Amino acid sequence: MPYRLVVLLTSITLAVIFAAVGLYSRWQIDTRYAIEREAETAHLHNVYVVQDEVLAQRTLALGYSISANEDIQRLLYEGGRAVRAEGGGQGGDRAAEIRNELFHVMARQWNDLHTGHELEHMNFLLPGITAFLRMNQPDRFGDMQADVHPMLVAVEHDHKARSGFEIGHAYAGICGGVVVTYMPKPGGVPHVVGVLEIGFDMTERLEKISRQLNVGIAIVLKSANVDENMWPTSRPLQKIGEEYVLAATRPEAAEWIASKLLPAAARQPRGHDVQWRGRSYQVVAFALDDYHGRLDPAHPPVGEVLIWRDVTDRLAQLAGERNSVLLGTLVGYIVMQIFMLFILSVSRDEWERRLRLNTETIEKLSRHNTLLLEAAGEGILGVDDSGNITFINRAALEMIGFRRDDVMGRNAHETFHHSHPDGSFYPIEECPLGKTMADGEVREVEEALIRQDGSNFPVTMTITPVVEQGKRLGAVVVFHDITEQRNRQEALMRMATTDSLTGASNRRHFLELLDAELARQRRHGGLASLLMTDLDFFKRVNDTHGHAAGDVVLANFVRVVRQTVRKSDVIGRMGGEEFAILLPGDGISGAQELAERLRHTFETNPVQIGNLIITVTVSIGIADLRADDMTADAPLRRADEALYVAKESGRNRTAVYDPPTMKRIVESDA
Ligand code: GH3
Ligand code: MG
Ligand code: MG
Repeated sequence: MPYRLVVLLTSITLAVIFAAVGLYSRWQIDTRYAIEREAETAHLHNVYVVQDEVLAQRTLALGYSISANEDIQRLLYEGGRAVRAEGGGQGGDRAAEIRNELFHVMARQWNDLHTGHELEHMNFLLPGITAFLRMNQPDRFGDMQADVHPMLVAVEHDHKARSGFEIGHAYAGICGGVVVTYMPKPGGVPHVVGVLEIGFDMTERLEKISRQLNVGIAIVLKSANVDENMWPTSRPLQKIGEEYVLAATRPEAAEWIASKLLPAAARQPRGHDVQWRGRSYQVVAFALDDYHGRLDPAHPPVGEVLIWRDVTDRLAQLAGERNSVLLGTLVGYIVMQIFMLFILSVSRDEWERRLRLNTETIEKLSRHNTLLLEAAGEGILGVDDSGNITFINRAALEMIGFRRDDVMGRNAHETFHHSHPDGSFYPIEECPLGKTMADGEVREVEEALIRQDGSNFPVTMTITPVVEQGKRLGAVVVFHDITEQRNRQEALMRMATTDSLTGASNRRHFLELLDAELARQRRHGGLASLLMTDLDFFKRVNDTHGHAAGDVVLANFVRVVRQTVRKSDVIGRMGGEEFAILLPGDGISGAQELAERLRHTFETNPVQIGNLIITVTVSIGIADLRADDMTADAPLRRADEALYVAKESGRNRTAVYDPPTMKRIVESDA
């Protein structure tokens, strides 16, 4: 792989890894904050709910303790009676007197609780939920609150104390209602004489939580509920659009409401992000229910509670975390990239050194190979998968007599293997090179190659397929000229089968050929004859002219025979100056004619050695080959017998094997 590509790929991989790590870390920070926010939302809601409950319990505890006071029970009993006696909700002088007395009984405790314990509202109500005495507004009484205070109606009805958020004529907030009973006569039946309503200062409570938790809290009421229930003078001071701010520990909530930055409240606490004057706030909002709403969730809430926290610093911290993750990732990436480049550049030198070494080795090997190929005595050539020559060495070119440029890229078979030695067409499918390329087998064969001049020469050829990774790419052919080897073989063959002096077949070979002819005749029938010749008085030639001259005569005889007989006829030297001649295809008469011609030709072609002329004659016995001749001996014996007759009849003549004649001669001999 090229170095640049390696650098590029590694850099991309590094960048992707670091980007992934960076994104993951950022995602983790964001996820952590989201979880944190959710937990915070739940926490702030819980804090409010708990405080709400604490406050409600406090109202009830106080309510119980006050309602247990017998003076108060009595005064409320008497106040009720006076109001009823004097008519109307407000009552008359007697009622006023009792109210005054009640106020004074409670005054000290009220003052203590009002100033020291955030008590804001204490209302003694007569049955029917009619206000009798409001400790904070003693001059406002007599109003019926049954329609605005369903909770108190329920308290009066079943005598069970209750607490919760309510909006009354003079007070909106968390209040508790406790029934007040009185027993006019000891041991008598207790009468319900009224209900005591207690309410704490919401703002004070919220301020405390606000300070403790470092959050802003606001209670916002829908104007419809407030306008319907509360006296104008008692209503919260701050009204924004359709909402009253009952209590707010920090000013921004009112501004958000005015700017409509907050979405409509849902019953479940929900977190919102608010950007305000360059700061960020997490606002938790949830619905505020009165007695109706608490009983029936389908009843619309009367307002909502907002709790918010300034998260500017937290967000800045998160942004810082995100940035440092980004920075850390970036720095990490840069360091790694530099480190990687350093490592790569160090390894590049090593890499390039190895590459150079490899290239040099390959070049050297390639040069060596070329040298080897060129130096080899064998012809070596390579072909591709189409049989076209891809390389060829000098020895091969010398053998086939082509120039390199004439053969490179050309089809090997078509160039110097297209015909058989006899000139017939050699189809490429039968060529062992083609076969090896088809089946991938190594082949060792003897073939003939054709030179550029059309002549051919025998070769041994090894064809090896070139296979790389299971794919046949072609083949390599190594061949060797075996002309000399063939010649030597032939010479040896000749030596083994022929007589060196005359060139005739030796006895053993002749007998083989004769046997073969007999076998052929037995199979296919037909005629064949055998001549047995013996030079006449040859001993004399030797004796007179010397053995060498005798040799010349022998050679001359065979030459004459060759000139006389057909090419297919076979001459064999049977020993000394005896020669046998096999004449396939000739019957006795043909053989006789040929024998006579031979005898005559030999006689009339004497040997001349210098001035010396040596005339020698020959006697010839003739016999035919017969189908019942089991061995070569039979016809040879017959020809011999005929020869004997020819000799006995005076020499320089021919005789056909003929038993009666033989008999005659033998008899006369005897
Ligand atoms: P005939 O007419 O009865 O055949 O008389 P001949 O002298 O030819 O008698 P024979 O056939 O018995 O003699 C053969 C002679 O041939 C004997 C031997 O010296 C001679 N001879 C055999 N082989 C060779 C040879 O290779 N070279 C020479 N120069 N003479 C040979
Ligand atoms: Mg002889
Ligand atoms: Mg002889």
